[in-house]
Parts: sequence; structure tokens; C-alpha cells
Amino acid sequence: MKVLITENLRIDLENERWECRACGADLVSARENYKRGLLVHDRDPREIHRHLLDPARYAFTYAPNPAWCRILEYYCPKCGSMIETEYLPPGHPPVHDIELDLDALKAQWKDRAEVKEPPIGSDPPRRHVHGEGARR
Ligand SMILES: [Zn+2]
Repeated sequence: MKVLITENLRIDLENERWECRACGADLVSARENYKRGLLVHDRDPREIHRHLLDPARYAFTYAPNPAWCRILEYYCPKCGSMIETEYLPPGHPPVHDIELDLDALKAQWKDRAEVKEPPIGSDPPRRHVHGEGARR
């Protein structure tokens, strides 16, 4: 049984392994931080948030200072799908943001059918606009 956890990750409950949802790559033990199984790009935040003012003329340009902030991008080592991003001070270890009770998850899913794709909900109700009711 595989359980969908995020848009990009799922857990194989039998093997207790994180997997990439895009390609099915086996990443790392589900009892560890999934980021240990991914490739990491330590990105200069100025590549994403460019200067709004000329850095030759101003000390503060609204771009993040790379000595204070880094963007860590995590990618699947097999297919290259971006799995996660996070903003951290330089040198800070990756945040362990998903830590599941696997035994409880197994108990929760033991009698359920596997969900391979997340269900798509109905369209949100249309907002009623006065005088528009008969035209639709
Ligand atoms: Zn992948």
C-alpha cells in the first residue's frame, strides 16, 4: 500500500520508504527526513528575488542578503522533479517538516483501498450575481 503524503511524495507502507510520486524512485526510509534522499541545490536567493534598486547605488535593494538567507531546493535524484523548497539561514540543517507515526498510518490504512491520485473536488459554487441567473 502506498499512501499519498504531498503533491510530490508518497510512502510505501510495506517497505516504510519515501517515494517520488512522479517516477516512483525509492528515496529513503520513511522514518527519516525525506530530504536525505533528495538532491539539494543551495541557491543564492538573489537569483529568485532580484534587486529592485540598483545595487551599485544602494546598500539595501530589497533583494535578500545571501549571507543571511539561502533557498534550498530539493530534487528527485532519478527524475529531477522539484520536491520541496525552503528558506533557511546559511548552514542551517534541512528542516524535518514531515514526521509521521508510521504505525498509526498503517493502522489507519489497513482496511482502506489505495488512493493512487488525490480525488478532485467539485467545482466551487458559482457566486450569484444579481441579474445574471438566467444567462448561464
Ligand atoms: Zn522522481
